[in-house]
Amino acid sequence: MITEDLVREKLGEVHYPGFSRDIISFGLVKGVTVLGNDVAVKIGIATKDPNIPRTIHEGIETALKTLDGIGEIKIDFDIQDPPEPVTGGNPAAGQSSIPGVKKIIAVASGKGGVGKSTVATNLAIALSKTGAKVGLCDCDLYGPSVALMLGASDEQPMATEQNEIVPIEAHGIKAISMGFLLEEDSPVIVRGPLATRYTQQFLRQCVWGELDYLVLDLPPGTGDIQLTIVQTVAVDAALLVTTPQEVALIDARKAAAMFKKVNVPIAGVVENMAWFECDHGDKYFIFGEGGGKVEAERLGVPLMAQIPLDSSTRERADSGDPIANMDPAESSVSKAFAELAGKLVSV
Ligand code: ADP
Repeated sequence: MITEDLVREKLGEVHYPGFSRDIISFGLVKGVTVLGNDVAVKIGIATKDPNIPRTIHEGIETALKTLDGIGEIKIDFDIQDPPEPVTGGNPAAGQSSIPGVKKIIAVASGKGGVGKSTVATNLAIALSKTGAKVGLCDCDLYGPSVALMLGASDEQPMATEQNEIVPIEAHGIKAISMGFLLEEDSPVIVRGPLATRYTQQFLRQCVWGELDYLVLDLPPGTGDIQLTIVQTVAVDAALLVTTPQEVALIDARKAAAMFKKVNVPIAGVVENMAWFECDHGDKYFIFGEGGGKVEAERLGVPLMAQIPLDSSTRERADSGDPIANMDPAESSVSKAFAELAGKLVSV
């Protein structure tokens, strides 16, 4: 017998295109009616991309057809426009939707621990060393490491009378992170809708001022915070951080697919922990060799940087003085970040 519960269970297998979350947990399923063996599903969705409802429609049909004895399947879509970007209206290509911010660069990874925050933080500093005005927004609410990496965990961002958040300033950049708002060791208890609201606040209600670049440190993976971000602001380019081994590359591929689905251009791949260089200059490919290059070729985007595995990079991140502050002549990692910044500036 077909029941509403059975139908909902099946709908829970249908993913939002490009994301790991399903349409039930995204709250898109507005109603399920079962009449005998016939099923009617109502979906409410905010998108301007006709491919998204089409893909969801196909997904629902495929999932429901696996139910024994299923009769007619009727799927109704209520399609609304997505939330307006901050400036109102769709920003033109290459334009940012946060007033005063020229370019938004999202630093993303498919999985955690590949060095995404390290890349975001050092890239922001390396960009500022080119003379650009730079902001860093830590959207990784559950693992906010930017505050620590900037050595600014004790800083308290101020609020204006209009309830806007004033980012802190450290190492020549402006930054905001959940890490500034939480007591050390306190767990991050924001979930679901609250996480979405915090993210939107960071993006919409921060006094970023005039910036050439706003670097976003995205949470790992392809969940609802990523969706919120790409719906809230027009991201100009995404950088995909991966380590060279297959497990990281598989997840990086998912992240790439997500950006493609939501029309965010991928500027390129950054291969982190590409090799370890010993004192004699020999390179050891601890996580495998060439994975980043192969993935970049597969995606048809440039391999923007290869960052070596380097103990001073980790030490300086922990002590709040990022490696990009070192003279590039004295650190191969600082040099790699300086080159990466140079490439982004010239895009
Ligand atoms: P993610 O944001 O992907 O979870 P992090 O940037 O927090 O990863 O990095 C995880 C850990 O690895 C941190 O301790 C960081 O200092 C270290 N790390 C990242 N990149 C490198 C590197 N190239 N060499 C040495 N340690 C690194």
